[in-house]
Amino acid sequence: MRILVVEDEKRIADFLTRGLQGAGYAVDAAPDGTTAIDFIHSTDYDLVILDLMLPDMDGLKVLERARSRKAGPPVLILSARGQVDDRVKGLEQGADDYLVKPFAFVELLARVRALLRRGQPAPEKLQVADLTVDCVRRKVSRAGETIDLAPKEFGILEYMMRNKGRPLSRTMIVEHVWDMDYDGLTNIVDVYIRHLRSKIDDRFQQKLIQTVRGIGYMVEVPDTPAAAPPEPAAERQV
Ligand code: CA
Repeated sequence: MRILVVEDEKRIADFLTRGLQGAGYAVDAAPDGTTAIDFIHSTDYDLVILDLMLPDMDGLKVLERARSRKAGPPVLILSARGQVDDRVKGLEQGADDYLVKPFAFVELLARVRALLRRGQPAPEKLQVADLTVDCVRRKVSRAGETIDLAPKEFGILEYMMRNKGRPLSRTMIVEHVWDMDYDGLTNIVDVYIRHLRSKIDDRFQQKLIQTVRGIGYMVEVPDTPAAAPPEPAAERQV
């Protein structure tokens, strides 16, 4: 889950970024409207947290531009302006929720979670063969056995499980799970996949994490019960 925080006040932006990261989300921060619009148009966010008073433009303008594409991410407006007028205007223009400053972080987090659930009609429990991921309790089990994962490992597995059968590139995985663009550091994905495999696949005959040549990885139940080695001749022809 990737969240964009649009806030010019550094103290608040840092506070939100740290808090949301602590809650397990990947977070980018934009200090003004122009940067925010660039980010929104170039990256797939699951949620945008938007301050209304920005140095270069009204936050509502950012909202309008985010909404100019057919399926923009949900937007939570954050502002010191508590007037009913602004609240109504924001919601009319397509904001999904509105929080007035000052606010408690727990309240923000509750609303963020609610919005992400709404934007994500996907089931809260994901299953592939005998592997189960409980996205709410953040628990993983295979064949009834609980498996402990580090937060990033969990993030990668959840992303792959939600996209079962779809090959995901290293870049896609990095962009979805890490905060920054890890240019040239997509190798880190291989390292994490190795960790995941050792926890999820190594002890089991059926391997669920598949390497997709030339692309990256995916989670899928293999066609053959025992993973047959690929035929070298067929491989060369590709
Ligand atoms: Ca501001």
